[in-house]
Amino acid sequence: MTKSVRVRFAPSPTGFPHVGNIRTALFNWLYARHTGGVFIVRIEDTDVARKVEGALEAILGGLRWLGLDWDEGPEVGGNYGPYFQSQRLDLYRQAAERLVAQGDAYYCYCSPERLKAMREEQARRKESLGYDRHCRCLSDAERRQREAEGITPVVRFKMPLEGQTGFTDVIWGEVAVENSTLDDYVLLKSDGYPTYHLANVVDDHFMEISHVLRAEEWLSSVPRHKLLYQALGFEMPLLAHLPMILGPDRSKLSKRHGAVSITEYREQGYLPEAMVNFLALLGWSLDDKTDILRRDELIKSFSLERISKTAAVFNHEKLRWLNGVYLREMSQEELLPEIMPFLERRLPPAVKRPISEEYVARILPLIRERINTLAEAATYADFFFLDELEYEASLLVGKKMTAGGTLRALKAAREKLASLESFDHDFLEGALRPLAEGLGLKAGQLFGVLRVATTGRTAAPPLFETMMVLGKETCLKRLEAAIAKLAEI
Ligand code: GLU
Repeated sequence: MTKSVRVRFAPSPTGFPHVGNIRTALFNWLYARHTGGVFIVRIEDTDVARKVEGALEAILGGLRWLGLDWDEGPEVGGNYGPYFQSQRLDLYRQAAERLVAQGDAYYCYCSPERLKAMREEQARRKESLGYDRHCRCLSDAERRQREAEGITPVVRFKMPLEGQTGFTDVIWGEVAVENSTLDDYVLLKSDGYPTYHLANVVDDHFMEISHVLRAEEWLSSVPRHKLLYQALGFEMPLLAHLPMILGPDRSKLSKRHGAVSITEYREQGYLPEAMVNFLALLGWSLDDKTDILRRDELIKSFSLERISKTAAVFNHEKLRWLNGVYLREMSQEELLPEIMPFLERRLPPAVKRPISEEYVARILPLIRERINTLAEAATYADFFFLDELEYEASLLVGKKMTAGGTLRALKAAREKLASLESFDHDFLEGALRPLAEGLGLKAGQLFGVLRVATTGRTAAPPLFETMMVLGKETCLKRLEAAIAKLAEI
């Protein structure tokens, strides 16, 4: 019988969750949901010095935002808790003591000063860096003496000095390293906290983790872990190390490549569904052509076999495009409440708050085809909200027109529009097309001038619909302002 799937996402609250962390979470979640297994969140908070305030909340908030619900872990509990490593210190200490008793680990009393000097010497001699095993063969008397001096030791793993350690990774295949390249790494620190290696192995065992899906950067830790599993008599889970994520310039994805924290994507108006789709394709694919895969389809088709070894490239334009696809799939009713907070937050300060939802409901159909993120609504549609538009007067001058001709056209249009009893689409069109003709202009020339006058820009939603939403009064005021502006040049 195959073991039931239990996978975990094991973030350290040492920073805000970036795209790489969340991709790991997503792959674990997808695998659990695909197999009907259990998705666990375990907080690896043993590095007290590097703990970042607010990071835990950001991690859990990011998961929740993306709809990556966990079956066991913080807030939800479970039968394998506690799910914070800082609350499991006894387990790690017991494991370390057992290893010492068995002869697989030893106490090391070396002072930080000695270790520093040792490293400097190694660097000077261009030797490989690593603990020189000074305390590995202390006699009982030497050990007692150090204890009597009140030195609190660390516990180090006793690496085999010869041979190889090999393992199989679902994605990377057979990997083997010479034991002589591995040093006697620390298992338990002098403050009683475990290192990542010890805590990770102990927890994966006691939480009955079946598969470890995590970033490629941990691949080199596996030989250490494997020897530790063996020494403790634990069975090792299956391993799948996910490929790196690179920026467009093929260097490791970092802050330099723009927003990388998941919180920032949320703030920039990316949709969770688009994000999930995009992140799933960073290292996994269904085939070589399918880009749009919704959550259900991802759950249905996710498999470890289709995870690639090749580093994934983070293509920001693709994310924007995908986001636009998901945005346009939303109904007006779904989109409206999502977009309101972005307008509230991002429209220029000059715009009066609160923003009217009713008004936005009229604008939305005009802009939704033209924006890719929720935040873009504020930059694309700000002219709907502003009292005064700021733009260069020269922008007003129509194609193949002079400033004088443009001024005449604007005055005539103002006259005409002021006389209209309705500002409906057909009324506007019925009035403005003949007006262009009367002025000896192409309709496009006149409409271009009016577009700039009413919106302050050359690219905007369809003119008549825009004017309808702005209303007669605002349009006339803006024509007035445009006329004044133009008169200055
Ligand atoms: N705490 C480690 C991290 O944040 C977990 C690595 C692992 O999954 O084993 O990357």
